[in-house]
Amino acid sequence: MDRRLFLQRIGQAACAASLTGCSAWAAPPPKAKVITLLHTNDTHSRIDPFTTGPYKGQGGIAQRAAWIRAFRAKHPHTLVIDAGDIFQGTPYFNLFHGRVELETMSLAGYDIATIGNHDFDLGAEWLLTAIERYAKFSFCSANLQFSQAAAQKWIRPYLLRTIGGRKIGFFGLGVRCEGLIPTHLWRGVRYLDPIAVSRKMVQLLRGTHQCDAVIALSHLGFVGYRSEPGDMDLAQQVRGIDLIVGGHTHTFLNAPKRISNAFQEQTHIVQVGHSGVWLGQVDLHFTDGHVHVQGTTHPITPEQTP
Ligand SMILES: [Zn+2]
Repeated sequence: MDRRLFLQRIGQAACAASLTGCSAWAAPPPKAKVITLLHTNDTHSRIDPFTTGPYKGQGGIAQRAAWIRAFRAKHPHTLVIDAGDIFQGTPYFNLFHGRVELETMSLAGYDIATIGNHDFDLGAEWLLTAIERYAKFSFCSANLQFSQAAAQKWIRPYLLRTIGGRKIGFFGLGVRCEGLIPTHLWRGVRYLDPIAVSRKMVQLLRGTHQCDAVIALSHLGFVGYRSEPGDMDLAQQVRGIDLIVGGHTHTFLNAPKRISNAFQEQTHIVQVGHSGVWLGQVDLHFTDGHVHVQGTTHPITPEQTP
């Protein structure tokens, strides 16, 4: 290295060091007033937009990724989440076994997902392998207990994300496997009561971890199947969940469904149908120690931009 270049480099390093030194004494940046969650569910291997039918031109991971990228450029305090059933539904899954879904979602900037019943379609072992190999985002499920050692690393009961100075706690919930998924595909996986598990999660996230907001990522269904609890039951019976991002029943909700529990507290439920034809947007407004939930949905079409 010549002397001038060397001095230049040193100068840059000294500058950087002094900046770091200064920032250590500066006041912390103000916390963001709004954190946004963009959400999908039941995308079911729909990599390309629909070419026929009522959703012709809609969906497709490239259009969704472009939308997410443009949105994030304007709103950096954004997390992208999915409520399960990423696998199954098009030849992409039959041919590539989930690789395309997980890799493209990683490229699109997904942060967190939970597990749906169809994510077991090639077995629990393969699901774990596919996550390890292809996903650059994290999975959570609190009531599906995997006995496989790899699960401890790849599927956490809950996940914490601090963004814009706000600590957001996420926990995942899966639907009962029995009667829904062939037994050999979920060997080693135990289903625990989602209501009891959710109460524990809220205690942990609000108490121990002091989260500013608690989000359930649920694949239970908007209304539960047979006598199983769904998102409506969860909202009514569990205190302290700000938002349930749901899936499984392919329910199109234009706006968040507001549910009051017996304690006069409110939980909101959102779900955006299936196949990525819509992208959901929820803004969490933080005012006077409370979280106010506002939501909307965006059809994913070539014309749509955020
Ligand atoms: Zn499902």
